[in-house]
Amino acid sequence: MKISVYNSLNKQLEELSPVRENEVKMYSCGPTVYNYAHIGNMRSFLFADLVQRVLRVVGKYDVSWVMNITDIDDKTIRDSAKNSPAWLNDMGEQTDEPKDNLKKLTEFYQDSFLDDIGKLGIDVEHFFALPCATDFIDEMQELIRKIHKNGYAYISEGSVYFDVNKWRKDDVYGKLFKIDFDNFRAGSRVDSDEYEKENASDFVLWKALKENEPFWEFEIDGVSCPGRPGWHIECSAMEYELFGLPFDIHTGGIDLKFPHHEDEIAQSKAGYGIEPTKYWLHNEFLEVEGEKMSKSAGNFFTLRDLESKGIDPLDIRFSMLSAHYSTKFNFTFQGIESAKKARKRVQDFIYDLLESDNKDGDNVDVEKVKLNIFEELANDFHTPKALAGLFGLINSTNPKSVSESSRIELLALMNDINHIFGIWDFGERPIEIIDIPAEITELAAQRWNAKAERNFQLADELRKAIDEKGYIIKDTKTEYEIIKK
Ligand code: AMP
Ligand code: ZN
Repeated sequence: MKISVYNSLNKQLEELSPVRENEVKMYSCGPTVYNYAHIGNMRSFLFADLVQRVLRVVGKYDVSWVMNITDIDDKTIRDSAKNSPAWLNDMGEQTDEPKDNLKKLTEFYQDSFLDDIGKLGIDVEHFFALPCATDFIDEMQELIRKIHKNGYAYISEGSVYFDVNKWRKDDVYGKLFKIDFDNFRAGSRVDSDEYEKENASDFVLWKALKENEPFWEFEIDGVSCPGRPGWHIECSAMEYELFGLPFDIHTGGIDLKFPHHEDEIAQSKAGYGIEPTKYWLHNEFLEVEGEKMSKSAGNFFTLRDLESKGIDPLDIRFSMLSAHYSTKFNFTFQGIESAKKARKRVQDFIYDLLESDNKDGDNVDVEKVKLNIFEELANDFHTPKALAGLFGLINSTNPKSVSESSRIELLALMNDINHIFGIWDFGERPIEIIDIPAEITELAAQRWNAKAERNFQLADELRKAIDEKGYIIKDTKTEYEIIKK
């Protein structure tokens, strides 16, 4: 089936036409591993996972998916520094070597990131690569040299900057994001990785060594510039090395359009002569009370925060997939509760289908439902409409009274849908463990004691009280069992 995507570059819905016929190469900006990712970050990774699943299952493409790990940038350096408060006891001892400290911190959070996405149903097997930026320093340096050689970069005080004004004479800066150049001052420079569009200026490709920071040797145009890469150059170099240019799809949250992705486009074209990708896909924010969830706003939850409140990560996955990626997603606990119920409804439908042994029930037009659901997914990953189709089916079908052939077709359909949503189980229905209230266990214990003391009248009264509260006691000689009626 043909897939349509909203391309942020051309600001329109476009039919996907990959560079190579049946193959899609997709790059997703991954986590910055200086701390636990919050579930706002997770929305962007879940979106990328949805895209690659729809491409494989609905589009029948052979997908190569790369997500980079940003293990060097302003934040990882800041938090790996000696005496920074970010160090946890279980991360091990700090050393006097900044590079070792950086590695320790980032490996720790990379592992926790992989744990988290696994719990959220993102299968690491689906990645073609999960490259760390620090493994591609040579390639980044090579690209910086190319940009410099082509005349679009300059060296200043040991750092290398991208010359935006020079670039604007030959190409466009502001393809993803309209930039007002009225306040743009030629030669003004920004060293930090993140900045607002109002501060558009020459951005840093390579940062000069600062005391007590990790660094790599770098020689450019005969000048020695020990230091470390800027954040934006990392993705440009890794995409080129892992995929070649152009590749097909690039994903990320909308906050990355500027400066990160805008700078990526400029760097790749200025250095390699080719724009990185054909389709740019950006997910909207996850918000809390109308504000973007972020570390800096302090309004964030990590996955482990929510797990400690008894929330199943797969209910988080389902709740996020229930909204379209291009709309803001308001995180609430009530929303997670509704998602949990809705997910269970589908799960029960699957178990009912698996358990049904009805031979001659009604026939269901499964093919029609499947086509409708797949078309919605192929239309810019419209999960809410696909789920509306699924619940339409569930609400109008009694799984215990469908014909055997429809039952088998329905199970196959649910399996296909699960290849996209990745949250339902096709094994045996687990036995529900019911929590017996403390009040009942207390009464039952008192009854058992009364029996042991041969006070049968009290034991009978207690049994009756337990019965009235909806529970039954079953005795053997040596123990008793409490059953919910
Ligand atoms: P970072 O680890 O900060 O580099 O961010 C990783 C990804 O999370 C990027 O694609 C961001 O755009 C995305 N992101 C950050 N905050 C949010 C949010 N509140 N909602 C959705 N995506 C987000
Ligand atoms: Zn990136």
